[in-house]
Amino acid sequence: MMKDKEPSTTGTCAACRRTFEFDPQSVSTVLIDPDTGLPPGMTVLATLRQATPEAVARSTDEPICPQCVTRAQQFQAESASTPTWDTWP
Ligand SMILES: [Zn+2]
Repeated sequence: MMKDKEPSTTGTCAACRRTFEFDPQSVSTVLIDPDTGLPPGMTVLATLRQATPEAVARSTDEPICPQCVTRAQQFQAESASTPTWDTWP
């Protein structure tokens, strides 16, 4: 099947820090707290804590690469009740 859209933007994956090209219209994003480099509510040990309103407010949507999207989806499917990302790099 032909793809009719070319990736048009280069960015850094919020999860693995790999530089990749993406289409900003369709790229998957994740909310990242700039203080920790992790989603609000997650610690560096990948354990969950209460996300503070301040952490959510300062967080921004960062693109994540297709590899990490796939890994996250697989991991969520395997452990739907415990959404920790401790298998990420
Ligand atoms: Zn990635």
